[in-house]
Amino acid sequence: MSEWQSTACILCECNCGIEVEVEGRTLKRIRGDKRHPASQGYTCNKALRLDHYQNGRDRLSSPLRRRPDGSFEEIGWDTAITEIADRLAAVRDAHGGETIFFYGGGGQGNHLGGSYSGALMRALGARYRSSALAQEKMGEGFVDGHMYGGHTRGDFEHAEVAVFIGKNPWQSQSFPRARVTLRELARDPERALIVIDPVRTETAEMADVHLRVRPGTDAWCLAALLGTIVQQGLIDDGFLAEHATGGEPVTTALRTVPISDYAERCGIPEALIRSTARRIAAADSVSTFEDLGIQQGPHSVLCSYLNKLLWILTGNCGKPGAMHLHSWMVPLARYDNHEFRTPVTGARILGGLVPCNVIAEEILTDHPARLRAMVIESSNPAHSLADSKRFRAALEALELVVVIDVALTETARHADYVLPAASQFEKWEATFFNLEFPRNTFQLRAPLMEPLPGTLAEPEIYARLVRGLHAIDDAQLAPLRAAAAEGRDRYAEAFGQAVSSDPRISALAPYVLYETLGPTLPHGAAAAATLWGLAHRCAMAYPDAVRRAGHADGEALFGAILDGPSGITFTLDDYEDVWAYVARPDHRIALEIPELIDELQALTSERPGWCSEEFPLVLSAGERRGNTANTIIRDPGWRKRDRDGALRISPQDALALGLSDGGRAVITTSAGSAEATIEITDMMLPGHISLPNGQGLDYPDADGVPVLTGVAANELTSLGWRDPLAGTPWHKHVPARVEAAAG
Ligand code: SF4
Repeated sequence: MSEWQSTACILCECNCGIEVEVEGRTLKRIRGDKRHPASQGYTCNKALRLDHYQNGRDRLSSPLRRRPDGSFEEIGWDTAITEIADRLAAVRDAHGGETIFFYGGGGQGNHLGGSYSGALMRALGARYRSSALAQEKMGEGFVDGHMYGGHTRGDFEHAEVAVFIGKNPWQSQSFPRARVTLRELARDPERALIVIDPVRTETAEMADVHLRVRPGTDAWCLAALLGTIVQQGLIDDGFLAEHATGGEPVTTALRTVPISDYAERCGIPEALIRSTARRIAAADSVSTFEDLGIQQGPHSVLCSYLNKLLWILTGNCGKPGAMHLHSWMVPLARYDNHEFRTPVTGARILGGLVPCNVIAEEILTDHPARLRAMVIESSNPAHSLADSKRFRAALEALELVVVIDVALTETARHADYVLPAASQFEKWEATFFNLEFPRNTFQLRAPLMEPLPGTLAEPEIYARLVRGLHAIDDAQLAPLRAAAAEGRDRYAEAFGQAVSSDPRISALAPYVLYETLGPTLPHGAAAAATLWGLAHRCAMAYPDAVRRAGHADGEALFGAILDGPSGITFTLDDYEDVWAYVARPDHRIALEIPELIDELQALTSERPGWCSEEFPLVLSAGERRGNTANTIIRDPGWRKRDRDGALRISPQDALALGLSDGGRAVITTSAGSAEATIEITDMMLPGHISLPNGQGLDYPDADGVPVLTGVAANELTSLGWRDPLAGTPWHKHVPARVEAAAG
């Protein structure tokens, strides 16, 4: 009889619970897991294709060392660990630990290993790190940090009005059971679905109101909506008096917004702007979701600020159907906005992450503080960051590059050492996208099978490297090992004492937990050791919410995590908790962000438009579609249609350029050129074209010959094309031109 095992889909931040029937090493059948507390059996079409990840033909099964001629040779694990530890130590001793850079934590579910990388960083004295998050959410994080010091999510399931800004949840999902919720919103005449997006996306098709802005003009549209709300006296004054400060400079700026002019600039009829603003202001509850459509375009941080003002000025926080700050198992980023800058370019480090677009610049220089070595885990920055050519050059300029991944990715090809990781279904794993309210959930996933021979899980790789660096005397761990053998209560006591008396144990805590508590955990779940500390910290931070979720304390919470293969609710927040989560002394939202108010006021004198005669079109480089996810599935065969990732273009532009549906076109930007198949569709406005994300990977055919499929969008993007404040790339607004391909 077949056995279904619980795990999660790893293709987007929802991490829907799934059940898998395994045959040999194959994920034979996959279905939604009804016991998962957030997804409740829901999946989209993508989860069913996960075997293409698990059984990719290009899986690695031995550590690799690069030869001087650029080719790789297989080496044993002991050799690899010894040589890497020695070479990392040599870089540290010669240039300082802060010149060793960490990048990683990818795959939308490959996070447990990352919780151990901090120990290796501290063992080396490393200071700087980044991840894909830093080319997406840092502008929003900057605004969040200033206003309330936390992260917010909307209650779309119950919202009377849902507003999606540069966001197509039908494809990119992001909240539990997204398609079910969208259908319910669209069906109910008492509710409203509002979309702000230049593209007629699947979500926009369902919407009651589609504000189809010209590409790059979202700031004017949002300012006009807010201007209407302020100028027509639709602000929730009672809410602001109770829960906010600093409103005066904001409302003063919005009072002068020329609504009719801004409506014209963003291409939306003024009457529609005004009626939409009134609909939002009149609703009992509003939730909003902004995403990469604005976060990777002009005025990205300002747009995030205006989005937040939309729900705050209308009093939509801390009530059913509205926005909420929420509890965390562990925050994805820091929200304190302490001034912290990179050593070479002086770029702002937001959320603790170096902006992705400056990483190459921090390497390709003769500045004495430049980065000298990189450890890259479960990420493919040579493919996913802007200007791949420049990033490849940066990797080649480093003294040492170590990549930990399942395949020989575009990044791994530039490494000095490649360490093969077990897949996400071959090891204990967890996801840290715990972003919901009031029920926040967490899932520790058990392995579905043994690791592919020759591979190791990341926690073990990090532990071996820390050991190889002799970062801590093993004798210091003996008392903790003895305490762990006596049970977790005794261990808690001993660990508390050790951390407070020995700064080295405190600095290397994840490693210490793995080495001492890890071996005592059931079913070989040593990698879950770090969750023991996180569970205790969570219970200390949110004691009532953890108790309401049914866990008496941190120990009980950890036990529940270990015993809950389909995931658990770890906190049950209360609406009043929202105000306690506002991390400001007065627990009120701070509305004023002077530099963004200046940018808002400057919109009056600015004419939108970043294109030129040479590059007259706006390329959206990296659109999420029905058959794209991230790049962890390298096999193009996982896509049932649009295998090559077509260039979408409007009928008007296609006609003007002499392009035909299914034909080929050359796209050129200031960074490079690429050829793609054409899809003519009225989803696109004239002047706007798009390419999907996750393309341009090569994958071996049946004979082992690598075949490149689709356009790698970052061969067309540039490092300097980024937000001046947050450094986030403007991938969704790349000036480009298109011509019919020859022949
Ligand atoms: S891709 Fe996202 S929404 Fe779809 S099944 Fe996977 S986690 Fe769920």
